[in-house]
Amino acid sequence: MYENIIAIPFRNRDKHLEYFIKNTVPLFQEHLPNSKVVVIEQKEGKLFNRGALLNVAFKEYENKTKYFFTHDVDINPTKKCIEEYYIKEVNDTHVLGIYTSQCNTLGGIIKINDQTIQKINGFPNDIWGWGTEDKALQNRAEYYNITKLTNLTNRTEHPKYLLRFDDVNDRETKHVSQNTNKHDHRFQQLNREQKLQEIMSSGLNNLVYTILERKHIHDIVELIKVEI
Ligand code: UDP
Ligand code: MN
Repeated sequence: MYENIIAIPFRNRDKHLEYFIKNTVPLFQEHLPNSKVVVIEQKEGKLFNRGALLNVAFKEYENKTKYFFTHDVDINPTKKCIEEYYIKEVNDTHVLGIYTSQCNTLGGIIKINDQTIQKINGFPNDIWGWGTEDKALQNRAEYYNITKLTNLTNRTEHPKYLLRFDDVNDRETKHVSQNTNKHDHRFQQLNREQKLQEIMSSGLNNLVYTILERKHIHDIVELIKVEI
């Protein structure tokens, strides 16, 4: 049983991953005992799908960890950030938005209980390219009355807490997903029953993937290459 599975969606950002493993993973080893970093790499070909990749980690480590983190590869927390936020307890009624966008979403870095992510059915599987999977996750959490506790809203404070890199290949030119409206604005218009239908229409309950390769690339870092 792990304390934390830190899941990183990944493709073609080798420089960022190298930096993360060299500088951030040692901090995890020091301050977050019994944790594993799981890099989920998407096979070339289709548009990047951040939500489905994170879902693979939620599926592979279901019942094997207390907490999951979703973690972008281009954001590196400082020691101060880990000590103040990463180690916080999270219970069944809330999710920790350690570093999420200004809008009301659950992207970037979040910490969530295993039971909670399984209950809300993870991300939708069908948001390809630059999409709104983070908003969809927020909608799902809200539906189940999971409160978001936000940290790091004060942007001038960020440098003390995070080192962020610019995106190198912006999710393939920021293709806006065809499903954007389906999972975002439209969701708000639905009644409760329809919302539940929407949540159950795509997510951990019907995720399909093939593991192509699985290996350790560091003491506590596993890389899982998948076709989705
Ligand atoms: N990502 C990746 N390869 C890609 C696109 C995205 O590895 O081609 C991963 C990476 O972990 C990245 C995260 O998905 O940090 C979010 O993507 P991006 O940084 O482009 O999103 P933004 O910072 O614009 O929200
Ligand atoms: Mn980024």
